[in-house]
Amino acid sequence: MASSNDSKSITYSSTRGCPTQKSISFRTAVMRGLAHDRGLFVPDSIPEVTPEELESWRSLSYADLAVEVIAKFVKEDEVPREILNDIVHKSCGAFRSTEVTPLVKVDGHYVLELFHGPTFAFKDVALQMLGNFFEYFLSTGSNGGRLAVLGATSGDTGSAAIYGLRGKKGVDCIILYPTGRVSEIQERQMTTVPDDNIHCVSVDGTFDDCQDIVKASFNDKEFRDTVKLGAVNSINWCRVLAQTTYYFWSYLRVTDNEKDVEKVNFSVPTGNFGDILAGYYSKRMGLPVGDLIVATNENDILHRFFSQGTYHREDIQETISPSMDICVSSNFERYLYHLAGNDATTLASWMGAFESTGKLTITGKKLDEARADFKSAKADTANTLETIQQYHTKYDYMLCPHSAVGVSAIHQLNMVNSSTVCLATAHFAKFGDACSMAVNPLPTIPKELARLWKLQIRSSNCPNDVKVVQAFMQRRVEERMNNHKKRDEKKQLVKRLVVVSAAVGVVAMVVSAIRRR
Ligand SMILES: *Cc1c(COP(=O)(O)O)cnc(C)c1O
Repeated sequence: MASSNDSKSITYSSTRGCPTQKSISFRTAVMRGLAHDRGLFVPDSIPEVTPEELESWRSLSYADLAVEVIAKFVKEDEVPREILNDIVHKSCGAFRSTEVTPLVKVDGHYVLELFHGPTFAFKDVALQMLGNFFEYFLSTGSNGGRLAVLGATSGDTGSAAIYGLRGKKGVDCIILYPTGRVSEIQERQMTTVPDDNIHCVSVDGTFDDCQDIVKASFNDKEFRDTVKLGAVNSINWCRVLAQTTYYFWSYLRVTDNEKDVEKVNFSVPTGNFGDILAGYYSKRMGLPVGDLIVATNENDILHRFFSQGTYHREDIQETISPSMDICVSSNFERYLYHLAGNDATTLASWMGAFESTGKLTITGKKLDEARADFKSAKADTANTLETIQQYHTKYDYMLCPHSAVGVSAIHQLNMVNSSTVCLATAHFAKFGDACSMAVNPLPTIPKELARLWKLQIRSSNCPNDVKVVQAFMQRRVEERMNNHKKRDEKKQLVKRLVVVSAAVGVVAMVVSAIRRR
């Protein structure tokens, strides 16, 4: 892959190589989400960061560092620097910590706390940014100025999307979730948001039913066009990009403290491979990263891939780290594309084989290459609970079940030292039931979460029927458009009245002046 220091030239292409999906802009990649050939957008070149430049970033705040990193991937004429600066600062401003993602030392290694955003989980980092980019691109003409974002959630991602999109101009956000199958705290996080552009719908079915409704809606062109459905957010390039900053941030903070550390290792609790992929890109940009550890729960397709070369689909198992319960990993295609030597033809044949047989097997040199890029480990429920319990007893530190998977991995791989950072992806209080199996009673939960029980809930219920859900969505989106139109018309009317009355005043003055003459 070509390297480049010049963000003027950066463009994106689909992993599946369709000629119309090549060399497109950051704006198009963000607004489109999924490429039209069903591939994922990847940068055509990976920008470089020199050691001198990296050093020059050492004193920057998190937000200013984020501006530098993201600017490498976005053309200045697409998003002027001042606007990028506003978008990034606004996104970081939604976090409770001024450091955005603080790094703490526990048990001789570091923990990067990614849970200080509005929903107490790491997806806030990406979705705050995505929401602000959507708003900017819509305000400057993309998609006709309107966008409906539709998603299905089994709990965790829904609230991060809702908090990222609430109150954003031109955006409607519709989140489907299975009735009675998300935890109470997660349902409350989603349904207590008062903004009128947020529509939560509990569907009488399973999470898979919700996902099927989402898929069917995206495949229904007429419906898609009427509600301006767009931008699949789960694999949006913007999310990966937003996450790269905290790898740079961690490296700088670790090397502030540890004089003899040259390269930093990261252990990442992994499901859809979005979080760790940002670490991979950071390393490719030149950040001194040692090992990247893919840490999985019992849903270990990625661990099996990096240990044996077998990316073979199995049924989902329900675990105590539900945000990592996946049977295929949606962002993994981006890595496979790079592993295929940025060759869309090879990638398309790999994905074709996987989609028809549920199996992709890599051997020989390619497997060696993959294993040089990532280490991996798996933590089962027992490992996870034991880790939570030990960190609480020994260090008075609470890990959530996802974060504990990553921490268990570094113990298994003998990498507990001051050059290792474990990514903590959620606050324990979001997964109280699981944590209380290891620690009882639990420490007090943050006031922002306790407060959810006092707020009013707003949600609609629909049967498990695509047509009913679509009709509901259409009604909501149109209602809101009409309300806004009415509001705008009222504003126009008031403006006109002001102009008319001013004109009348002037005429009256002139008339009385003439009369006086
Ligand atoms: C989404 C999520 C993960 C997994 O991240 P991926 O990018 O899907 O690998 C881990 N922990 C928590 C709490 C999450 O919400």
